[in-house]
Amino acid sequence: MAIAEGRVALVTGAGQGIGRAIALALAGEGADVAVTDVNPSGAEEAAAAVAAAGRKSWALTGDVSDFGAAREMTEKVLQDSGRIDILVNNAGITRDGLLMRMKEQDWDSVLAVNLKGGFNFCRAVVPGMVKRRWGRIINMSSVVGVMGNAGQVNYAASKAGLIGLTKSLAREVAVRGVTVNAVAPGFIDTAMTQALPEKVRMALQQQIPAGKLGQVEDVVAATLFLASPGAGYITGQVLHVNGGMYT
Ligand code: NAP
Repeated sequence: MAIAEGRVALVTGAGQGIGRAIALALAGEGADVAVTDVNPSGAEEAAAAVAAAGRKSWALTGDVSDFGAAREMTEKVLQDSGRIDILVNNAGITRDGLLMRMKEQDWDSVLAVNLKGGFNFCRAVVPGMVKRRWGRIINMSSVVGVMGNAGQVNYAASKAGLIGLTKSLAREVAVRGVTVNAVAPGFIDTAMTQALPEKVRMALQQQIPAGKLGQVEDVVAATLFLASPGAGYITGQVLHVNGGMYT
């Protein structure tokens, strides 16, 4: 049986990249999927792809860092379907630079999207999950959140913060049948890493024992596993998907 048959999922930042692939994979596993993104055309295109796979879809546009907008987006899905069973907090941004040169705005925006965005959506969906005694929350962290990375104090802090949120919320809701886990990708071949200069990409590759960047499908597989019935006794964990870069 498909692992998400009859479930309703919401994926943030699903207009492209890893989030879009997760949204489509959940649809392929039988879930209706709400696609949220700050970019309306990305959200609409991905929602249309979910619908083409035969599942109900929602295209929701809004900024995850806006508490009210996150509530409005989830309310729309809850009004239509009565529930959200699977939440994937995937939206994320980078504003890289050495601390000595980092602008306050670059710190604030990365923390707001990557960390507060996760809080906003958990806050909106957890009460319903707890009431229904079933839920799966997967927070997209990063290898950088556990290793650190020069030039990314803001991003690393946000991704480490997501792990703290994951472990704490997992303890709060485990008894209600809700699991909360994080996926920590290493360097994955997406727009985010394609934006890096070729020299930096090559240097990164040399740090990866597997000798290559990961693919979106590697992150999708880990996320689907954590959303699956078989992962029901796994909570508060960080699943690393990094080709051995951090062990
Ligand atoms: P991506 O291609 O840049 O996709 C991120 C998506 O999030 C984009 O569609 C983006 O929209 C959307 N987004 C940005 N800010 C938002 C906001 N305020 N509200 C709602 N949506 C917003 O990135 P990706 O590589 O797929 O990464 C997905 C997640 O995995 C991120 O959390 C990232 O930190 C994490 N991750 C990625 C890697 C990697 O190597 N790629 C490694 C570790 C962790 P627009 O871009 O259209 O504005």
